[in-house]
Amino acid sequence: MGRAAPHSRRASPVLSSMPEAPRVLFIFLDGVGIGPSDAEINPFLKARLPTLRGLLDHQIPVLDGGAESGPGGDALSLPLDSLMGVEGLPQSGTGQTALLTGENAAALFGRHFGPWVPVSLRPLMMERNLLTRAQAEGISCIFANAYPSHFLREAWTKRPAGPPLAAHAAGLLTRQEEELARGEALSSEILNTAWRTRLGLVHLPEVTPRQAGRNLAKITGEASLTFFAHYATDTAGHERAMEPAVAALERVDAFLGGLVPALPPRTLLVLASDHGNIEDITQGHTLNPTFSLLLGPGAKELGAGLSRITDIPELILEHLTGPG
Ligand SMILES: [Zn+2]
Repeated sequence: MGRAAPHSRRASPVLSSMPEAPRVLFIFLDGVGIGPSDAEINPFLKARLPTLRGLLDHQIPVLDGGAESGPGGDALSLPLDSLMGVEGLPQSGTGQTALLTGENAAALFGRHFGPWVPVSLRPLMMERNLLTRAQAEGISCIFANAYPSHFLREAWTKRPAGPPLAAHAAGLLTRQEEELARGEALSSEILNTAWRTRLGLVHLPEVTPRQAGRNLAKITGEASLTFFAHYATDTAGHERAMEPAVAALERVDAFLGGLVPALPPRTLLVLASDHGNIEDITQGHTLNPTFSLLLGPGAKELGAGLSRITDIPELILEHLTGPG
């Protein structure tokens, strides 16, 4: 889908050019797990998700049904463990630290903690996150989220979420209103609505989820590793109701529908989460395995050894530094 046909006029210049270096687009979705096969509980089974269903050959992963990849397709979905031997419900602070550093952050801290990164784990997050490690290997990186300039001037680091803290440590927390207005960054909510209504930045254009997806695909072409973080899935999960959960999943699906066909060649898309929540509207955070998706060159081979959220950074770094 979206690939040039064999007889397309675009085929020959592509074939005659140098092979492109591998790229990775890493999308973090907060609070998305694999839920039960009960459509009254699991919004994945109520929502219209044409993109995800297409990528996964109509097999939305459920707890008792396995997570199948589409035959002949490049996508692979795997359930990942976010508990990692630590009792209690997984939380975003330790979960995002685990997902971005590859370390069992809840075990290091002594328990699951959130929503922000606890003080004692911040040095680890600053020094050993995926972005800083990639940069040390000479890999170009982008953090695609825009943050309001006033937010960055305030004391946001007192209670930081994992993704901006990691990006800040890497010197990548730079995109603001101007970049968002030009489509060179994304709102973490995908839509620009809150920037217009809550922040009063009415000059910002509205953007559809599809257009935001196309914008992210374009940004992805400008570095070897691009990172985007989306939190509205967790927020919707905390509402414990079907309608907002369905809307949040449909927003992500439309976003992926704009993104996937527009991705640059040889891009590996890695989608992962920190803990379960939205997949079960009867509770908040869950003990369920997290939802993950790999799509693109090498996805199935790379995914073979994945079992925990801490496996994600190594997978990305190996793909970017390994024999191309
Ligand atoms: Zn939460």
